[in-house]
Amino acid sequence: MSGLSIENISMRFDLPNGTSVQALQNVSLDIRQGELLSVLGPSGCGKTTLLNIVAGFLAPTEGRVVLGGKPVVGPGPERGMVFQQGALFEWMSVRENVAFGPNMKGMPKAESAGIVDHLLDVVGLRDFKDKAVYELSGGMQQRVALARCLANDPEVILMDEPLGALDALTREKMQGLVLKLWKETGKTIILITHSVEEALLLGERLLVMAPRPGRIHKEYRLPFADMGV
Ligand code: ADP
Ligand code: ADP
Repeated sequence: MSGLSIENISMRFDLPNGTSVQALQNVSLDIRQGELLSVLGPSGCGKTTLLNIVAGFLAPTEGRVVLGGKPVVGPGPERGMVFQQGALFEWMSVRENVAFGPNMKGMPKAESAGIVDHLLDVVGLRDFKDKAVYELSGGMQQRVALARCLANDPEVILMDEPLGALDALTREKMQGLVLKLWKETGKTIILITHSVEEALLLGERLLVMAPRPGRIHKEYRLPFADMGV
C-alpha cells in the first residue's frame, strides 16, 4: 500500500508517413495513496495517453511508472480502468459483468457472489442484477462499470472521462457516487475530464496539461468541496 510515481514519462508516436507526434514530454508526478487527482486539458494534450501508460496498455518511449516502490510493466490487477462507455459485456447480465474479474481469478462462486451483491448495493443496482447491460440507461451502465472495476479491488482506479457521455442530471448524480466510492474505499483515483466544473468538484488536486508536446502546465491544490455524500 503506497503511492504511484510517474517518472519522467515521454511518449512519441511514430506515424506510417514518417512523421511523429510527441504526445508526452517529461511528465513527472507523484500521487499519494488515496489521493483523488483530476486531470484537465485541451484535446490532444496527452491525457488518455498518460492514463494508458499508467494502466500498462501502452509502453512509454521514456520513463517509468512505479507503484508501491515497484516499477509496473504492462497491465495488472492493481490498476483498474473505467472508460467513458462501451467497455462492458453488453450481452451479459449486470451480475456477470461485475463477477467477471473475480471469476477470472478463480475466486469461488459463492465468495464472488457476495462481493458482487455488496458492490451492486453500493452503486444502487441491486434490483438490476439480472438485466442485460444493453437494457440499462447510460448512467446505470457507468454504475456497472464502477462496480466491475471495484470487484477487482485495484489500488489505483483510472477513469477516462467516465461521465463524459452522460446527460447533465445523470452526470451530477454520478459525480456524487464517485465521491462516495472514493471516500468509502480510500482508493487512489486519477480522473480525466473535459469539464472544468467536474475537475474542480471532484479533485483534491487538479493537474492542467498543455499540448504540443503534451506536458504538465500547472498543478493546483483544491479546497475540497464536500457534497454531503
Ligand atoms: P487527449 O486524451 O488529451 O485528448 P491523447 O492522449 O488522446 O490526448 O493524444 C495526445 C496526442 O497523441 C494527440 O496528438 C494524438 O493525436 C496523438 N496520439 C494518441 N494516440 C495515438 C496513436 N495511437 N497513434 C498516433 N498518435 C496518437
Ligand atoms: P441513472 O441516473 O442511473 O442513469 P436514469 O435517470 O436513466 O438512471 O433512470 C432513473 C430510474 O429509472 C432508474 O434508477 C431506474 O429505476 C429506472 N430505469 C431507467 N432505465 C431503466 C431500464 N432500462 N429498465 C428499468 N428501469 C430503468
